[in-house]
Amino acid sequence: MWTRALAILSVTAACGDGLPAAGDQGPDGDPAAGPPPAVIVLIGDGMGGGALDAASLYRHGATRRLFMQTLPYQGEVRTGGPSGITDSAAAASVMATGVYTWNGRVALDRDAVAVETLIERARDRGWRSGVVTTTSLPHATPAAFSAHAIGRGEYLGIANQQARTTRPHVMLGGGAAYFAPQGPGSVRADGGLLGTLAGVGYTVVADRAGLDAAVADGATRLFGAFAFDHLTLVADRGADSREPDLPAMAQAALTTLDRDDDGFFLMIEGGRIDHGGHANDLIDVVQETLAFDDTVALVTAWARARGNVTILVTADHECGGLEVVTPRPAGEYSGVRWRWGAHTNARVAIHGDGPGAEVIAGAVVDHRWVHAIAAARMDGVALVAPGREPIPDGELGDLRHRAAGQDVASGYGVGFNQLDALWLDATPRGLMVGVEGLFEWNSNAIEVWIDVDPGAGTGMPGLAAAISDRDGTADAVLSASSLGAPSGSGLAFGADLALIAVGGADPHVEDLADGGGLRGLRVPFGAAEDLGWRRAALNFGAVRARATPLVRMPGQGLEAFVPWVELYPGGVPVGARVALAAVLVNSDGGHTSNQALPSFPAGTANPGRVVTPLPGFVVYELDSNADGVVDGDAPPVIVR
Ligand SMILES: [Zn+2]
Repeated sequence: MWTRALAILSVTAACGDGLPAAGDQGPDGDPAAGPPPAVIVLIGDGMGGGALDAASLYRHGATRRLFMQTLPYQGEVRTGGPSGITDSAAAASVMATGVYTWNGRVALDRDAVAVETLIERARDRGWRSGVVTTTSLPHATPAAFSAHAIGRGEYLGIANQQARTTRPHVMLGGGAAYFAPQGPGSVRADGGLLGTLAGVGYTVVADRAGLDAAVADGATRLFGAFAFDHLTLVADRGADSREPDLPAMAQAALTTLDRDDDGFFLMIEGGRIDHGGHANDLIDVVQETLAFDDTVALVTAWARARGNVTILVTADHECGGLEVVTPRPAGEYSGVRWRWGAHTNARVAIHGDGPGAEVIAGAVVDHRWVHAIAAARMDGVALVAPGREPIPDGELGDLRHRAAGQDVASGYGVGFNQLDALWLDATPRGLMVGVEGLFEWNSNAIEVWIDVDPGAGTGMPGLAAAISDRDGTADAVLSASSLGAPSGSGLAFGADLALIAVGGADPHVEDLADGGGLRGLRVPFGAAEDLGWRRAALNFGAVRARATPLVRMPGQGLEAFVPWVELYPGGVPVGARVALAAVLVNSDGGHTSNQALPSFPAGTANPGRVVTPLPGFVVYELDSNADGVVDGDAPPVIVR
């Protein structure tokens, strides 16, 4: 119970009648005021739709029966980030700060500047705050809410900030090694942080019994790191475990944070669903998801009894490409299929309850909305919806220019690879390229040839026999090209670089991947016999097929982000324009399909291994008003 309400009860009693008047329940005597606002964000790390399906089937014998799926507001979240498929640090940073950042960053923006987190905002508003997780406390998700770091692996620095600077009132999870004094239970070389915490009012606990006692004792600041690193997985935990489980930690946090009349912000993470996803371990995914769902149920029941609590439940990303293929009855694990041991950019669910959460109902949002909803509640103002910001997430609807469409049915077969449209946009940070269509997993390749200075006479006019780098999968595919120079235009096209994804490869902007990315064909980007591996993010939406054909998903496809420095190392020149052409080729690169953008003429069959000119290219003015600032406002023009 919040103390101000208790105080009002005493005042009322002192006035003589002994009982508060009906409806007089607000802390300020205002019947409408109710308890102070609170915001609780629950994050299932790596908890995609497949995890929800498998967990719901295991417990309830049907999908969509989890408690979180019964909350009144249900929406979807696009999970990509500027690096491409997101990691936990970047996604949590977006939720904590409202600002997109590169993978690996902890509450720093893309320019490495620290951005206010929801916990810092809470502190500035006089709210209390907490983080609860089943991972180590300095791990990516809790870190992004309670520290700032250039790299998520800076666990000691993050722990130092959590204990010395940010000091959320409640910190419960694993990671004792980063807080304990030098010795067998620590990776530190100093006296640790536990004394510091105790010195500023924290009750420091180390096991479940200690946690229970501290809560019963009325602790107002609570720190518990219950394992050397992450907490024990649910499936590996004995009945006699000394670690509290996630619902128990959540309950302790709620009780502790609500001890006075301030609002509070709490982040609760089911952090090890993701570990099950990386390991393709269905039991861990299901059991960790169910513990998380139990936590959502506990938190929601508590919140509804208290009132004025906003609850948002979501995931940072999917992990593993998990899909249920053979549903089984309750108590049995369903038959599933995994795509790989890494994150995907499949949309994830968002569930909400309480004031302010209604905006997610039926909506497709991104992680910035979590911050926006929480910040609006903290400030007591109307929601400020996040603005348009194209990021490479495979969903092309936020790119401004549909530059070319397809006139030819795919010669590779209906439901297999096809290219439908070329999309373009330009932001102050870089070029956005979208190729709408359908892309097979582990088959064929999509190439986007880029001329950074059309008409200047640089680059390769024709690609067949012009490139000779056979080290590396993508390089060999480019080197096998059967494409000739586009003919018939007054503007000479010369390819300087190429975006390529072989078999659906979609590297992060930080990666230099063998199967895809940006390649430089000539100096200074690289050389014809030794292609330069440049930085770009490539990302397919849910559109990338497995072995099985898929129906086309309008507006989805390959989306790439190319930082300007990769195209214009000396800065984007005034009046710069870029020319592009996309083409689908087979897995060795030598067989050209009839899928090109701009399109071949209607009725064109696959050119195959016959050297064939590109049917045309698109020219895009980057600075249409020549003021030295990239705007990308002007619609691209097709040149044939
Ligand atoms: Zn992960």
